[in-house]
Amino acid sequence: MEDLKNLAIKKLNERGVTLDDITNILKNIQGGYRELSDKECMDSILYVVSKREAIYTILTGIALDEAAEKGLLDEEINNLITSDNGLYGIDEILALSIVNMNGSIALTNFGHLDKVKPGVIGKLDKEGKEGSRCHTFLDDIVCAIVSSAASRIAHNIEKK
Ligand code: MG
Repeated sequence: MEDLKNLAIKKLNERGVTLDDITNILKNIQGGYRELSDKECMDSILYVVSKREAIYTILTGIALDEAAEKGLLDEEINNLITSDNGLYGIDEILALSIVNMNGSIALTNFGHLDKVKPGVIGKLDKEGKEGSRCHTFLDDIVCAIVSSAASRIAHNIEKK
């Protein structure tokens, strides 16, 4: 599993998303509630991306983005994905497989991040809209990782 986790992190990097980018968003959205160290944020993100379902979601979503970018899918579905069609919705559904493992706080944060698009999420959205890259699945995956990590932090603090 460790190899697949490293592959998922490598693929995120290749697509323009570092764990530091994800940490920064997490720190910012939690800033209003509590001071978090970079290490606390990174630990929580690594916890989320280490789960088998999360790894499979990251690898699958990125594979679909890359396939669509190269025009490898049937034309109709390829166009839906590269145009990030608002009614497509499968990108959000795939990312929910990460969110659903992490409780209701993850779910509400996910909806919020998808709307506000802070940090690297906004960068991915912009690149996708410009048509230079396809990040239809990846932007939701990043939202799911951040929101799940935020949920885990909230639950851990409540336990204390
Ligand atoms: Mg999307």
